[in-house]
Amino acid sequence: MEKGKKDIRAYTKEALDQFFKDQGKPSFRGTQVYQWLWQKGVHDFDSMTNLTLEDRALLKAHFDINHIQIDIEQKSKDGTVKNAVKLHDNLVVESVLIPTASRSTACVSSQVGCSLDCTFCATATMKRMRNLNPDEIYDQVVTLNAQSEAYHQRPLSNIVFMGMGEPLMNYKNVLAAIAKITKPEGLGMSPKRITVSTSGIPKMIHKLADEGVKFKLAVSLHSARQEIREKIMPFATKFPLEDLLESLQYWYQQTKSKITFEYVVWKGINDTKADIQALIQFCLKVPSKVNLIQYNPIESNTMEQAAPEVVDAYIKLLTASDIQVTYRRSRGKDIEAACGQLANK
Ligand code: SAH
Repeated sequence: MEKGKKDIRAYTKEALDQFFKDQGKPSFRGTQVYQWLWQKGVHDFDSMTNLTLEDRALLKAHFDINHIQIDIEQKSKDGTVKNAVKLHDNLVVESVLIPTASRSTACVSSQVGCSLDCTFCATATMKRMRNLNPDEIYDQVVTLNAQSEAYHQRPLSNIVFMGMGEPLMNYKNVLAAIAKITKPEGLGMSPKRITVSTSGIPKMIHKLADEGVKFKLAVSLHSARQEIREKIMPFATKFPLEDLLESLQYWYQQTKSKITFEYVVWKGINDTKADIQALIQFCLKVPSKVNLIQYNPIESNTMEQAAPEVVDAYIKLLTASDIQVTYRRSRGKDIEAACGQLANK
């Protein structure tokens, strides 16, 4: 960015209106510029053809447009698309389009790297470089939406915050991005089609609940036994399961929205009857369902997915306790686009 110039994409519509007003010009110019930036997605001021040359020059003198760029687009055999997304400061995050027969799901990143230390996740091997700003999150969605239109002739049906980073450690910007995604002047998408996935930070879950948000919440649980969870997700020593549970009960009380627990079953880690019973007891304490995820091996550990019989036992016993359970197969493994494999290789 040129010195002294501001990133115009950090401006609200109202702030742009004010900018033109301060310049002695009609404030609706701000709204026009906002539409160019956010509905038409232009990347230079000369494309804003309903502005006078003088107005365009004024904008150029004051602002830059810091848009993201797709560095590499990889396509999996199963149709999954992974984008390496270059940010204005040359850092890179990844985002993924996951198509099925009836849906196009966007998986987006919220941070460059991650500050948490989950032993099973490739992103944890990178250090957290910085938070993404709202526009960088929004842009990933717009790009994936365009790819869905191009490859599948339909817009995105769902968005999941399951890419790189911990969304609740970038709370303000994630919420601002979602506001833009859901507003009519943005993508106009229903918040019910958006899922924020968190490793489980009780204080921030409380805050979300108080804010009355309308999107869905998923929690990467992986074990309902504190001593085991601490081994695979060391940061969990700071966030005990009882605090997590309390925050989730509060979330449900405020939002009436069921929580999804994401859960991988690993050999020798959480594959006993006691692990299953602990999960059932946990689920019975708050309206929830379980999404069993296939493990996608990463280089930095030797963890292995448990045998199919163990996964079956989970499904059988959860179901017997009236807890809804689904099993999610990995997508995009051949291009390292699957859960936990995003590490900017
Ligand atoms: N930080 C957030 C979102 C990113 S991870 C969170 O923790 O929820 C998205 C999902 O992928 C989480 O459920 C995470 O536990 C899971 N995951 C991470 N590494 C994985 C791996 N190697 N195989 C399968 N799932 C993994």
